[in-house]
Amino acid sequence: MVDAQLGPVHPRWIRVNALKSTIDEQLDTTFKGFEMVPSVEEVIASASTGKRVICLDGHVPNLIAASPGIDFTKTEAYKEGKIILQDKASCFPAYLLDPRPEDGDIIDACSAPGNKTTHLAGILYERGGFADGQRILAFEKDEQRAKTLANMLKAAGSDAVTVVHAGRDFLKTDPHAPEFRRVGALLLDPSCSGSGIVGRDDAPEFHLPSAPPTPTAGSSKTSSSSGGGGGGGAQPPNRKRKRHEATTATAADTNATTNEEETATTSDSPSSPPNPALETRLASLAAFQLSIVLHALSFPAARKVTYSTCSVHAAENEQVVRAALASPVARSRGWRLLRRAEQVRGLRDWPVRGDRRACRTEAEEIAEACVRAEKGDGKGVMGFFVVCFVRDRVGGDGAV
Ligand code: SAM
Repeated sequence: MVDAQLGPVHPRWIRVNALKSTIDEQLDTTFKGFEMVPSVEEVIASASTGKRVICLDGHVPNLIAASPGIDFTKTEAYKEGKIILQDKASCFPAYLLDPRPEDGDIIDACSAPGNKTTHLAGILYERGGFADGQRILAFEKDEQRAKTLANMLKAAGSDAVTVVHAGRDFLKTDPHAPEFRRVGALLLDPSCSGSGIVGRDDAPEFHLPSAPPTPTAGSSKTSSSSGGGGGGGAQPPNRKRKRHEATTATAADTNATTNEEETATTSDSPSSPPNPALETRLASLAAFQLSIVLHALSFPAARKVTYSTCSVHAAENEQVVRAALASPVARSRGWRLLRRAEQVRGLRDWPVRGDRRACRTEAEEIAEACVRAEKGDGKGVMGFFVVCFVRDRVGGDGAV
């Protein structure tokens, strides 16, 4: 369904915060009086009937799609941190990472405002995690955004199990430091072009030419040059920072940003390829994103790492994955992609996969391992990409 002015209609996606509530409690309270329908398509269609309907998502546990246009920020559940407004696709990374009590400490490398950090905490809590001092280590380079993160963690009840590294650059951490010796899993959701965000002008789909991105000495500097948004480098003159549509929700956070993502954007025309400014921008972002992935792959006890963006561009997605897989650190440490058949059920069943054209060698295998979400395809989600790197054994790593 498409609104003549606003484009494709999206449901309200609501994640029930397992730390504070359950689906059953929310059905009896916040959603009392809503009609339960079997599909997201019917939820989207309710935009024209004015009915108040919901459906339980078939892919991500504890996720509800509700009729478009309803403001849940006034509800008690929202104010108490029992529900979190979070796009379905944005729930994929924590769900795909599949954190477990036996994973030890979990790093969220790029955390603010904290949607995925709190999701990690909710999943772990449901699985009986946090015994034996298990913690989530949440890095956020931008001090201001780290405050928002802290507020969100508090509202969601995950502050007690999360250590916030405010103002700390993940790229400057030493993976071999004793504080990280128990880190078994990492979630990477670095700054990106944000081209998948609903309401964002679409930039043309762009594939970097043959060479995959290579991390440069200036990669981390590049990211900080955009004020914590990542990427950057030499900025095109008409680029501006921009905050986006509110999709994040926590109670204590009402005066802070309610943005899903903090990203940098271009104001280049979406319909004028080739676009050198966009190409430069994407190459810079891709180098930064690759440096984040390679850094994560070098944590000694790590066995699984998710990498995600809210970008539609293969340059930031499949091509970063290919470059990471080809890197010495991935090869020497035995990193590979989590195959579709190995993924959690909901994402195994999710039909939209990686862009084969961007995967080249072993295209089928890589593309199948990659999970994409396309905005405007009727599924009511934002444009998104996520993949999980895994390795089957830890120890005996080469000194890379
Ligand atoms: N994962 C967040 C969520 O779901 O709410 C959204 C993360 S947003 C896309 C990227 C965040 O990473 C920004 O807040 C940015 O300031 C932060 N960031 C960028 N580079 C970083 C770095 N090198 N170390 C730590 N944080 C970084």
